[in-house]
Amino acid sequence: MPSKYKNYQEFENAKIKCKTCYIGKYYNKVVLSDGYKKDPIILIIGEAPGKTEVELETPFIGASGKLLRKTLNDFGFNKGNSLITNIIPCRPLDNKFPTDKDVVAKCMQLWLKEEIILTNPKCLLLVGAKPLSYILSFKTNNDRYIINNGEWFGLNVNGNKIKCLATYHPAFILRKGYDKNILESFRNHIKKVADVFIGKKEDKSCNK
Ligand code: URA
Repeated sequence: MPSKYKNYQEFENAKIKCKTCYIGKYYNKVVLSDGYKKDPIILIIGEAPGKTEVELETPFIGASGKLLRKTLNDFGFNKGNSLITNIIPCRPLDNKFPTDKDVVAKCMQLWLKEEIILTNPKCLLLVGAKPLSYILSFKTNNDRYIINNGEWFGLNVNGNKIKCLATYHPAFILRKGYDKNILESFRNHIKKVADVFIGKKEDKSCNK
């Protein structure tokens, strides 16, 4: 099934006006995706925008976003080949991720699924536990339901199988005081995606 939108612009025009759920109705500050909008190598999917993201109207632009963007850059991902989005484009009330799974599922059907179809990424990088658990609801048949960080799995979207990999949320790394092992795994996961889609590159980071 093709997207119900003619093009990405039409999709964004609809997304920015969304008032489908209680977040949109009472606090409608939709943060649109950031980056390359047609055939990106990776679509990076986080949870939901925070305060800074709403102020600057860009996903992953606050403290955790800086770590994510730097790491992506270190391995060759940038605005010219990747797109950053969230499973929820609004900042949840009280900054709490909705507990109502139907609200999240509906939001993903309305926006994330359409975005995947319209942008046609080669790979999805899922940042944090929530994107991983929710994205598994898109899976159709012959799929596994327990996936670890750093492990490849396939996702069926509209009959197309897209390679996916989940990793830690950078906010978790910040909360853990840049724990050396977690940071190293996070970098290795992003390197793993880069090795497949960009080509092998040495990790020269001195703060691994
Ligand atoms: N955390 C997320 O999951 N997404 C953002 O855009 C910012 C912080």
